[in-house]
Order: sequence, then structure tokens, then C-alpha cells
Amino acid sequence: MKFVFITGGVLSSLGKGITTASLGLLLKSRGLKVTLVKIDPYLNSDAGTMNPYQHGEVFVTDDGGETDLDIGHYERFLGGNLSRKNNITAGQVYHEIIHKERKGDFLGATVQVVPHLTNLIKEKLKEIAKDYDLCLVEIGGTVGDIESLPFLEAARQMGLEENSFYIHVSYVPFVKSVGEQKTKPTQHSVQKLREIGIQPDAIVCRGEYPLTEDARSKIALFSSVPIRAVISAYDVENVYRIPFILAEQGLDDLILEKLGIRTYLKRDLSDWENFVNNLENAKKVKKVAIVGKYVEVRDAYKSLIEAIIHAGAYTGVRPEIKLIDAVEIEEKGADGVLRDYDAIIIAGGFGKRGIEGKIKAIWYARENKKPILGICLGMQLMTIEWARNVLNWKDAHSEEFDKYTPYPVIHLLPDQKDKPLGGTMRLGGQDVKLKPGTFVHSIYGKDVIRERHRHRYEFNNAYREGFEKSGLVISGEIDGLVEIIEWPEHPFFIGVQFHPEYSSKPLNPHPLFVKLLSL
Ligand code: GLN
Repeated sequence: MKFVFITGGVLSSLGKGITTASLGLLLKSRGLKVTLVKIDPYLNSDAGTMNPYQHGEVFVTDDGGETDLDIGHYERFLGGNLSRKNNITAGQVYHEIIHKERKGDFLGATVQVVPHLTNLIKEKLKEIAKDYDLCLVEIGGTVGDIESLPFLEAARQMGLEENSFYIHVSYVPFVKSVGEQKTKPTQHSVQKLREIGIQPDAIVCRGEYPLTEDARSKIALFSSVPIRAVISAYDVENVYRIPFILAEQGLDDLILEKLGIRTYLKRDLSDWENFVNNLENAKKVKKVAIVGKYVEVRDAYKSLIEAIIHAGAYTGVRPEIKLIDAVEIEEKGADGVLRDYDAIIIAGGFGKRGIEGKIKAIWYARENKKPILGICLGMQLMTIEWARNVLNWKDAHSEEFDKYTPYPVIHLLPDQKDKPLGGTMRLGGQDVKLKPGTFVHSIYGKDVIRERHRHRYEFNNAYREGFEKSGLVISGEIDGLVEIIEWPEHPFFIGVQFHPEYSSKPLNPHPLFVKLLSL
């Protein structure tokens, strides 16, 4: 088995996830079967219970994992689906080790981080890697963090058992007052890594500017790596360009040489290059408003923003995306805030804050025939807005926000009653049947689609007749569960109970976003 471990130093938020994803793409383009794993050293079992302010978006895999947003980057760069198993957290491994201990698996032994926990981590990684030529493992956090130590130790031990390559992603600041790039933080973080017993094979240096030759040779010398193994990953505007930056400096060749992988295939990044060029050359500007509530954290809507960007590259549109706080619409009214936008997306979410603002935005888009896509909570609110303002069902609401509403047009899924909160929502990919002859059917061009879910509440079928009689069309269902609504007398009034953004890929943009941008 062959592994590449990616660790981080100096700072968090260096873009290790994008570096790992880019490398995955490069190695895949050489004809190798590659998989990517993200290790998160926190004690939560998964990202599902974390607030977007803490963590950014929760990415949902097709098999129903609530994972770190890096899994989203990996899927987008690799162009395929990963499993929930590709995101390992400290919470999961500690939980499993204690469960094993209670079962009696270690009878007689003192259960310890080394070797019991580290063995479990290695087993999990080997289980994932066994079907692939190469497994890339990104260890979250920064060397020196207490939580990541067992994982770094497992990574060190893996080098004794399997063919492994270690990449350290570090930061090289440019200090303006002296006009110089400073390598000391990188030197120190490599020393920290060595204390743990890992000698890196390559250093990826993040920074504002390309590395100077001087900085490069200093880093090579102090880190004991050849100069060609010091890779400059400077800031770029378009992250989809990063694979080219790593390729130009031969990081993939270095890995293949060290791991003894022979491939005669040259990199073929032509499709990726087309995508990047289309993205950068798109001329027609369209203003897209995402109405949400975590607007200060762009990462909270990561997949959604990327899905719009993918559709933009495909349609020759340069989307200008603005995150709008629904509370602002509550206060200022929809017209003042949304008038200039070509398309409005009502994002998914939880909790009461901003709900009435989102409903106002939907009312505005419906009345003014502005293209609007409601996602998950957005779809639920579209039905509520319709119930209140078209059907005159006063105070119609979702049971999530008003338990005593006279018209609970959105109610709790029957299997959700009295469940604990972690990992229990309706999660993951399911097949949705589309109704022939509807707008959505024509957009997808298929009878059955597969989409990912993450919710507890659903459309209440007791009210279905009223909606349908008043002109709202239910265009997608799963065994009677309403998945899609649309209003045919509007250029684009579509609400989906699922999250189309999770399955959009650069080379395979999602049809709903493509249509929204091409109107
Ligand atoms: N809060 C809503 C529910 O649980 C919507 C969830 C979402 O938008 N992801 O059903």
C-alpha cells in the first residue's frame, strides 16, 4: 500500500485541503487510482452537530456522512464520490476503542494511545487504501496541537510498515518592513514535526508571493529536503489553478519516484484546463444573491458558491455572488436589497433567525417573476410563503418554528420523533422520481435523479391538494415524499428538499444551477 501524508504547520487555514485535493487530481491524471482521507482531530463524532461559525459548511456524502468541508473539495477535484469513511475524527476512534475495550477485545491489557489507538487508526487507513494505488491522508490542525498527536504518531508508524511520503504544508510570510520572505516559522514547524519523528519529503510553502530562490534553498537546507522538493504554493485568485502550480514544480513526479510507482502516462489535465479557461474567460455578468444567515463565513456556503461557479464556467457567465443576511431583508424590505439581482437562492439552514426575511425574499421573487431556487429550508419556506400569500392560510408555518401553527404545511418527518440530535437527520443520496412534462424534468432531462439530503422536516401531504389546486406543481417525489415544487407561471420558481450543491463538480456542473444562470 502507498500513502501520502499531508501535515500542516505555523497557521491553520493554509489551504491544506485544496493542496491535497489538487494533488489528488494530478496523481489521478497520471492514470492512478487515488483516494483521499481527511482526519479531523476534534472529539466530535462528525461535523454534523457543529455550528457553521465553528466549522463552515457540513458536507454531506452520498452515503449519508456529515463530513468536513474538505471532503467537498476532494470530491470536486477528483470528480467522483467519496464515502463517509473518508473523514476520520478523533471522536470516532476514541469511541470505537472504548467500545472494543468494553466488549473485552483487549482483556488483560492496559489500553493505551500507543499502540491501541494508533493501531486502530492505521487499520482504518489501510482498509480505505486497499482498493487504491495511492491514498492521500490530510491530517487536520497544525503540528504541535495536542489533539493531533495520536494521528501524527500513526502516520509516523505507517512509514515503517508501508511505502509513505510526507508533505508538510507551511507558511512563508513576506515581511513588508524588510521586504523579505521569512523562512524561520517553517524551519520551526519542520523541527516540531521531526520531534514527533516525521522527516518530511517535501515542503509546500504557502504565501502571498512565489518563493524567492534564496528562501527556497534555505528551507531545503534546514528541512533536509532537495531543492526541488520545496514547492511554492503562492496565492492565486482561482483555486482551480493550483493543480497546475504544483504540476509545474513536479510535486507529483517526486511522489511517484519516491514511492516507486511507475506510470508511463503523462498528466492529462486538458479537461481541467478547459474548465479553468472557461471560468476565467466568462464575460457575461450575472448577479446572484444567496439569502442565508451565516453571511460572515463564506465557508458556510462553500459547496453552493462552488456550484454556481461551475455553472458559470459552463454557461460563459461570470457570477457575482453576494451573501445576504435574511435579517437585513426583514429590516429593509426585499425590494431595496434584492432589486439588482438576476437570480436569488434561498439557502438551507436551521433555527428561527432570519426566517421571515427569507419568506419576504420569496414573496418578492414570486411577485416580480425573479428567478428563485429554494434549497432545503429554502424549499420549505417557499411552500410556507405560498400557503400564506396565495392560499391565504394565515400563520401557516413549519413545526420547526411554530408548534401551534394552524397550518403546519411543513412537519417533522415521522421517523424523527424523539431522536437524539447527532447523525439522525434524513441524510445522503436517494433516487427522486421526476414528473414528466414539468420544468424540472426538462432541466434534468431524466426520469430519475439522485440527490443528497440533510433535514428533519418535510412537506406535509395533508395539505397537498390545496397547493396543487392553486397551481403549485409537485415535480419530484420519493414514495409520496415531496422533493421538488415548481410554479409553471414563473420563469424559474423551484424549491428542492435536497442539496444539489453537494453533487456539482467542475467538469460536471449541476443542471439546476446551469439553468438558473442561462435564463
Ligand atoms: N431545518 C430544516 C429541516 O431540518 C431544513 C434543513 C436544511 O436546510 N438543511 O428540515
